[in-house]
Amino acid sequence: MTSPSTPRGAGRYAPSPSGDLHLGNLRTAVIAWLLARDSGRAFRMRVDDLDTARARPGVAERQLADLAAIGIDWDGDIMWESERFPAYAAAADQLADRGLVYECYCSRREIAEAPRAPHSPPGSYPGTCRNLPESERARRRTALGPGRVPALRLRAEVTELTITDRVHGAYTGVVDDVVLRRGDGVWAYNLAVVVDDAAQGVDQVVRGEDLLSSTPRQAYLADLLGLARPEYVHVPLAVNAAGERLAKRDGAVTLADLAEAGTTTRAAVARIVASLGGPEGSDSIHDLRGRVTFEALRSGPWEFT
Ligand code: GLU
Repeated sequence: MTSPSTPRGAGRYAPSPSGDLHLGNLRTAVIAWLLARDSGRAFRMRVDDLDTARARPGVAERQLADLAAIGIDWDGDIMWESERFPAYAAAADQLADRGLVYECYCSRREIAEAPRAPHSPPGSYPGTCRNLPESERARRRTALGPGRVPALRLRAEVTELTITDRVHGAYTGVVDDVVLRRGDGVWAYNLAVVVDDAAQGVDQVVRGEDLLSSTPRQAYLADLLGLARPEYVHVPLAVNAAGERLAKRDGAVTLADLAEAGTTTRAAVARIVASLGGPEGSDSIHDLRGRVTFEALRSGPWEFT
């Protein structure tokens, strides 16, 4: 038994409020909830609304209502990233104090067109602004367009890192000079996720495997900030009949679309439950308790047709 003084850890789900959740997203949330509850962890909810300028009213509320409608519950208050900017600034300051942050003035295009070292990994930052003299920095700072601030980048001291994932095993991925704050002033997801998981006591991160490749960067940031790396569980995504990642264009994929097409929420939950090996005919995610293993999650994507 866990004594009351021992924090029991937590899992979480952290939707970005960019649109309604589809059944693949909801299924990932169910897996996160199950693995947390089955391991005696708390379950936290967090809204990834970092980009306040692009937030659309009501989207997060609909996502939360859909998560509740399929039976997911969570502990404590919902964390809204839009209220957490001081915490991200404090983390960036902590890194800056150690000389690990520099300003970057590059546009996306400049990054894409910059000359690269022969073996630099695709998509990694080519290091253009890493070692600029102060005079050049001052010139580039004043040349930034309206509404732009210098981006902040991490001065990474490694180029790759190996993390352990419960589904994928050892995974080695790129660590580059990751953006901490974007040129439009928005705090970067990779920093926010690390700071907020720690603040919510999250020690188990369950999410779609599209985020596996970002994980070494996040683990590196956690190490630098003196935060324990959580357990990582990257789960296969839902795909359409063509094997492509499920998306809005695939038709009735959200609870609202399905309702319009005559499918109830209970029937939608039944599909998720069946896809995870639940008992025949069940439409309750509680019937999945104890049934979803890391091993079972290695069986590949969920074909949603
Ligand atoms: N908000 C991210 C997304 O919806 C997920 C973040 C995470 O789980 O780390 O893709």
